Amino acid sequence: MSVAAAIDGKLFIGGEWRDGAARIDVVNPATEETIGTVVAATPRDIDDAVVSARAALRGPWAALNARDRGRLLSKLAQRILERADEFARLETLHNGKPIFESRKIEIPAAAECFEYYGGWADKIHGETIPVNGRYLTYTLREPIGVVAAIVPWNFPLLLTAWKVAPALACGNTVIIKPATQTPLTALALADVAKEVGIPAGVINVVTGRGSDIGEYLVTHPGIDKIAFTGDTTTGRTVMRNASARVKHMTLELGGKSPNIVFADADLDAAVRGATTGIFYGKGEVCAAGSRLLVESSIKDEFVARVAERAAKMRPGDPLDPKTRLGALVSRTQMDRVLRYVEVGSSEGATLVAGGKRCDIGTGKGYFVEPTVFADVTPNMTIAREEIFGPVLAVIEFNGADDAITKANETDYGLAAGIWTRDIKKAHNVASRVQAGTVWVNTYNVYDTAAPFGGYKQSGFGREMGMHALDHYTQTKTVWVDLNQ
Ligand code: NAD
Repeated sequence: MSVAAAIDGKLFIGGEWRDGAARIDVVNPATEETIGTVVAATPRDIDDAVVSARAALRGPWAALNARDRGRLLSKLAQRILERADEFARLETLHNGKPIFESRKIEIPAAAECFEYYGGWADKIHGETIPVNGRYLTYTLREPIGVVAAIVPWNFPLLLTAWKVAPALACGNTVIIKPATQTPLTALALADVAKEVGIPAGVINVVTGRGSDIGEYLVTHPGIDKIAFTGDTTTGRTVMRNASARVKHMTLELGGKSPNIVFADADLDAAVRGATTGIFYGKGEVCAAGSRLLVESSIKDEFVARVAERAAKMRPGDPLDPKTRLGALVSRTQMDRVLRYVEVGSSEGATLVAGGKRCDIGTGKGYFVEPTVFADVTPNMTIAREEIFGPVLAVIEFNGADDAITKANETDYGLAAGIWTRDIKKAHNVASRVQAGTVWVNTYNVYDTAAPFGGYKQSGFGREMGMHALDHYTQTKTVWVDLNQ
């Protein structure tokens, strides 16, 4: 399928493309142009997607051997890689992220995720248990059923893969609800799924606004599990709505992650890590190192170096392979980020880099300069709330205890970075920081085999690695009486 066909934007239900009366514009945030439309799914469409997913769950998907299911996932991975240029272009067009990020990092990572879980499909099994008495007692690991994968706009295909790949490996079927702003790569995934022969109904894609169809989807009696990534506030609503039927759920929510630089760190590496930690993905990254905690003795020098590096990072055309900073996803998001910049200044933080909207010579696009605030205190709004943009808040600390107190002074707990040459300090701080992922002398590295997820209000459950499999299976214990 070409880019144009994805932008055709039909729903994918039961292996067929389906049109709809109401449509939603898809905007390229780098040009502000409407590049296509997608269908706004109705409750009736969701009902049909559920019927298809349930039929596939009991029918062709259940009939396949686990190994054959795994082979299909591997084929899917292979085909995504073969068509990586198209996927990457779509990802960049609807999200505004640099093609470098989509083509070199995120689309290959999504393909790898399918490959990895394809390998797991025939290795998920139960156990026999030595119980009291003469019984054969064993467990079966069964799929949960129909999974709704609700995905945000920041890593559209990758975060879809994190949910769909383990769900399918475990024998579930899925209904994908991509973010309103970034629906195109989920539709392209459906096309590839059809191409490689994944049976109809195993993957369905319903596009539409979360505010219109989210609640219907989450409360639908035919959906057994919700795999949600998004804002913490939306996550609370989803949790409340899913509770009526006690649905299985995993929540990957927001973050305000501390990146802690000790005076004894390799400062060149730490400067690089501090900037890529916040500016990769335009800062629209749940694990962004948005709070830079710097030890007092090096603070002035370090802030100056980070600010200098930020000032040199100019946004560019996201489709240019040399660009490293793209456009924010939407006008709404840009306005939100710029409001936080105003709040930062008005609460007394010192703006040392960026802070303004900018453009790439076209006079269009939702570009924001890489922004750095120094002299931030933990009670300021920009130290507490997730901005989800290229805005860094630098907070000073004195010694490891103070660093840990400040690092943990947040409702979130998604990730943290530690920069030090002292190996004992690194491990001690790593164990005391409340975060689902801790990076030591690096930042923002991921692997399909390594679990990822939140502490505290950053959510629960883990995506990736073998840990994700627990969230897509349920355990049945079978007792067989052997007494004669
Ligand atoms: P969002 O919460 O607005 O939307 C996420 C998804 O939920 C979208 O598909 C949206 O349409 C849908 N949705 C909205 N209202 C809904 C409802 N009532 N019921 C069901 N679904 C609904 O989030 P966003 O703005 O797209 O994404 C940004 C957020 O995602 C940030 O807070 C970020 O930190 C978080 N995030 C977290 C992770 C992680 O792994 N923890 C990863 C990426 C993004």
